[in-house]
Amino acid sequence: MNMHKIILLTAVCISLINFIQGGDNTEISIVPILGPFDLAEGPHWDENSNILYFVDIHQQKLYSWDSETNELTYTFIMSVAVPIDGKENSYVVGSGTNLVEIYWNRHFNDTDPDVEIIRTVDSTRLYNRFNDGKVDPKGRFWAGTMAEHGNEYPPNQASLYKFDSDAKRSTMISPVSISNGLVWNHANDTFYYIDSPQKKVFVFDYDNESGNISNQRTLFDFVKYNITGVPDGMTIDSTGNLWVADNLGNGKVLQIDPSSGELLRIVDMPVTHVSSLAFGGPNKDILYVTSAREGLEDEIKNQPYAGFVFAIYGLGVTGSPMLSYKLEDDIVFNK
Ligand code: ZN
Repeated sequence: MNMHKIILLTAVCISLINFIQGGDNTEISIVPILGPFDLAEGPHWDENSNILYFVDIHQQKLYSWDSETNELTYTFIMSVAVPIDGKENSYVVGSGTNLVEIYWNRHFNDTDPDVEIIRTVDSTRLYNRFNDGKVDPKGRFWAGTMAEHGNEYPPNQASLYKFDSDAKRSTMISPVSISNGLVWNHANDTFYYIDSPQKKVFVFDYDNESGNISNQRTLFDFVKYNITGVPDGMTIDSTGNLWVADNLGNGKVLQIDPSSGELLRIVDMPVTHVSSLAFGGPNKDILYVTSAREGLEDEIKNQPYAGFVFAIYGLGVTGSPMLSYKLEDDIVFNK
């Protein structure tokens, strides 16, 4: 599709609002706000600027959306992007198997941004690329990879990495297949993680000082709950409950209580390929949900909003701030 013809739906969408009942009987609304994109992923709400960032992976685009002015701009880059703390117009980005710093003034489209390679991972893995990534409570950047060869996803080729403030790399979990999820609890002693094909949400003990993880357990098993599809992106609300995108299934967003592993709520989405989610808005009470259109070409009649970014209002919960990467100045890159 022609990406210059991005449809901006705002007020128009009010008539398209899809009302469903939340688990606590509050009325929630699901509004398609932007799109369609091929594979929208990796939403990141920046509370300093009230900007929603997300990527369109196979279009290699990083988008910036200003919820107040409706300004939507992009630059070319891939898979995952997070602002660098205290450094204007700088982002840490996964691009192929490179972790890079890009320089982008988000008020302008930039098809050729300045890029500096910070680190390269998986250099012997021909089909690997970075996938999802997040910043931990100490400001370190965690990002995992996946193998993707055409329509195939060779298993156990990838890893989850952690990058310290000096960009020193540690391998945290290996091998994995499709690295996703990535959430820390509010006590900063627990890490939640998803390797999508395993159809489980995992939980680890987490040491905030060292950044080490240990004692892997299964927190939530899609198969046990008869949920079709696979877990993809994940976020946490202010009460500590997890929100998980159910991709390739019936199109759902799940709320899970991590203390019991219980499924608290299911939100039915109007699309099946639900990729990721993040709380945003000035009060962080809007759940932004990304979705994919690719692979649904024959289905598009039934799923006119496939590939849209949605805003879910009225869930009755708020999210926690999403952090920026604390990267030291003057570090020697690519060592
Ligand atoms: Zn994902």
